[in-house]
Amino acid sequence: MSLMKRGGSEVKAGALRRVREGLAWAGASVLDQLYPPCCGGCGAPLAEAQGLCGACFAKLRPITAPLCSVMGIPVEAEGGDFLSAEAIADPPPFARARASVHYNEMAGALVAKLKYGDRPELAKLCARLMVGAGREFWSAKPVLVPVPLHASRLRFRRYNQSMMLAQEIARLVGLEVDAFVVRRKRKTAQQVGLSGDRRLRNVQGAFATHPHALERLKGRGVVIVDDVYTTGATVKAVTRALKRAGVEKIDVLSFARVVIGDDNPI
Ligand SMILES: [Zn+2]
Repeated sequence: MSLMKRGGSEVKAGALRRVREGLAWAGASVLDQLYPPCCGGCGAPLAEAQGLCGACFAKLRPITAPLCSVMGIPVEAEGGDFLSAEAIADPPPFARARASVHYNEMAGALVAKLKYGDRPELAKLCARLMVGAGREFWSAKPVLVPVPLHASRLRFRRYNQSMMLAQEIARLVGLEVDAFVVRRKRKTAQQVGLSGDRRLRNVQGAFATHPHALERLKGRGVVIVDDVYTTGATVKAVTRALKRAGVEKIDVLSFARVVIGDDNPI
């Protein structure tokens, strides 16, 4: 991944990251002996730090074609370009949304660990699946924009899971991440447990763009990266902020997607 190097702090962050990566490389085998890799689903020991054991991996349910060309959710149709009822009834501000897996118990367990645990191999696993789900996006060389956390939440958690996913995807596909083009200007309540309407109100006006957003993006489109797409309220609010700044081409990529009709544990 390559953060856009604009300010001194970003350059410094890049240098620190390189040091950290160097240490991670040198220390990987030692760490593996101290903390043997284990499955992010069931905790079983693993021979390699690949994130999940075979049985837990099989519990992830990939979102497969045919898909709604806008919302990226499965539609019951064969071939062609299809729109879901959701895309027609409530057209989103972004162009396309895609996600790797249905949000189910295993996806939820992975996302929870991504948020609070220090398990970089899980972010790698999720990112690999997301690269596949977003394959239509990459040829346009978009800039990846992680959904930002509010600064106070980031300080508390020290970790933005969307940033981690964006960095891994960027590394795999050879793209840039810009984590500064959108910021969360207002601290919002956690979306979990809120109804659709309240989610929408909760994030309305919560995001602001960098004063030089368009220059930073150099005319390229944006793929907003998030861990879970529930009602889409958050990514829609980020999309609207980018659109107000004049960004035209905006897509959304999530690891897991709540699909109506699934048995969802949210
Ligand atoms: Zn397992």
